[in-house]
Amino acid sequence: MSRPRARLLSIGDELVNGRTVDTNATHLARCLTDAGFLVVGIAAVGDGHGALATALTAAADDADLVVCTGGLGPTDDDRTRAALAEVVGVSLVEDAGAWKAIRRRWALLRPGQEPSPSNRRQALVPTGAEVLANDRGTAPGLLVRRAQTWIACLPGVPHEMIAMAERLIRILPRRFPGLVVPRVAELYLAGVGESLVQEHLYGQFDGEDPQVGITVSESGHLVLRVVGAPAAVRARLAILRRKVRPWLLPAPGLAASIIPTLAARSLTITTAESCTVGLVAAALGSVPGASAVLHEALVAYAPEAKRRRLGVAQAAVQEVVSQACVEAMARGARRRTGADVAVATTGLAGPGGGSPDLPVGTVWVAVADIHGVQSRSVRIDGSRARVQSRAVTEALLITWERLAASRTARGGIIAGKAVNDVPR
Ligand code: ATP
Ligand code: MG
Repeated sequence: MSRPRARLLSIGDELVNGRTVDTNATHLARCLTDAGFLVVGIAAVGDGHGALATALTAAADDADLVVCTGGLGPTDDDRTRAALAEVVGVSLVEDAGAWKAIRRRWALLRPGQEPSPSNRRQALVPTGAEVLANDRGTAPGLLVRRAQTWIACLPGVPHEMIAMAERLIRILPRRFPGLVVPRVAELYLAGVGESLVQEHLYGQFDGEDPQVGITVSESGHLVLRVVGAPAAVRARLAILRRKVRPWLLPAPGLAASIIPTLAARSLTITTAESCTVGLVAAALGSVPGASAVLHEALVAYAPEAKRRRLGVAQAAVQEVVSQACVEAMARGARRRTGADVAVATTGLAGPGGGSPDLPVGTVWVAVADIHGVQSRSVRIDGSRARVQSRAVTEALLITWERLAASRTARGGIIAGKAVNDVPR
């Protein structure tokens, strides 16, 4: 499957001086990939005319499709139209339909007012360009051909761009008659590092059909993405599945895998959280169907609360970030709520309070079930928010490992990590 090569060019000073994150390119890259294009590069450039024309020429010289966003506004720093005309080698002319659409929009939003001359400039288009209607703003989009390359320009305002990108994706197949919409498949993995997966899958990432990529998701699991012709994707998926079987999740994410797995076994879960202050329960609760398995959850922040609410012994709460404490929390939560599975967290989220013996970022997680309790500690670098969110991932991970181990009857270690497994 040979895919047309696409390049993205995001235009705006705010993108190159670090004020705005370029979310437009991310969105477009995803849409274009799913529509059958091979996105080979993403660039950002400021609003200066010279740099803009240079970047546009470079992108167009090395792609079948260039999609630009931004710089179509009515102000003096919006120079995309002029740069596009120069790069294509034509002049700017007023498009009657675009001018009519601008007037119509003004009549709707500002009755009685006439569009200003600068707004009228938004109706200027490179000769021969196709105008893409914008029903969320005044600046129309443009589609124009330069030699073998199609260049599209969309507004920079994200919600305008998103609507227009949809329209662009719909009309592109007419410009690219051989375009094949690829099959996109994803496998979700947990309990294994990215580098170990790379080693296991040596050679699988080479080649363009299918294209195989690996990313770490925000919530801690890995995503293996396979894009290509349907037959090639099917064949590669079979190979990949075999190679990563021990770490495969049944759903996209840890919480999303835990909830239906518990539901299928008619099991309930509860949480006893200290450093994650309810975030583990929130992650579980965000999955549709959670109410069937998550009946209640507890935040026990103060040592006294751990003792009173979870029945953790005085000796264990004395050292609150410890294996004894986290295991007692998990056991206590099970006992007090009657849930089948209990997951517990305790740790030092910081930024203060660390010591050489107990550095900030030390987190203990535990999971208790009918067979016993299992726990481990991790060290997490970074801000308080990062320690908390990684601690959630670790808590979900140990829970998932426990469930997966009992499913496969492999017992104990699934992730190849140090696991402490003691009978209750
Ligand atoms: P357009 O010309 O397409 O109407 P503009 O460039 O004239 O847009 P700006 O005022 O520069 O308009 O940008 C409009 C808003 O969109 C700003 O808040 C800007 O930060 C945001 N924006 C522009 N480009 C991007 C991008 N690539 N990703 C995310 N936000 C963007
Ligand atoms: Mg701009």
